Amino acid sequence: MAFERLDPAASASAPGTWRPEMPAGLVVACSDGRHQEELDRFLRTLGVQDYDRVYVPGGAGALSPSGGEHTRAHRMRTDCLFLIQAHQLERVFLFFHGPAPGGPEPAVCGDYQRKLPGRSAGEIAHQQDVDAAQLLHGVFPSHVSLHVYRIEVLPDSSVRFVLLHSAEGRRSH
Ligand SMILES: [Zn+2]
Repeated sequence: MAFERLDPAASASAPGTWRPEMPAGLVVACSDGRHQEELDRFLRTLGVQDYDRVYVPGGAGALSPSGGEHTRAHRMRTDCLFLIQAHQLERVFLFFHGPAPGGPEPAVCGDYQRKLPGRSAGEIAHQQDVDAAQLLHGVFPSHVSLHVYRIEVLPDSSVRFVLLHSAEGRRSH
């Protein structure tokens, strides 16, 4: 494979400046680029501007074994806990995604199709519900607020954000 010369503009300075303040939260979502604009817009409506992001296949599902992938889930959880601790994050937003009931089949999360081959969209949505519930207990420190959503594509291709779980952080003092 030949490497092309870099465009000189590629090293031009970007608008804005780096800021030393730590971000306010952590967002875990699927790498699937089809949701990124809607997700960015949704986070802005929540007032979430500066946040650490873990974008991996499956999104919040990557933190769940979903029956078999314990090693991967453990590694992903460790990465998220590192960010929470290192940046003193207090809000965590977890996103699953897939079609709403009756929504388009291609909207099923590819990572869940990989983990659970042959399952229907409804079965995968059920597994996501199970995984979401498991992430509520003992995964994140109790002081963080945890908000779990599924990004759902409706039959008309519009997108909605369904809140699956929400728990405010508990102060220990
Ligand atoms: Zn996905």
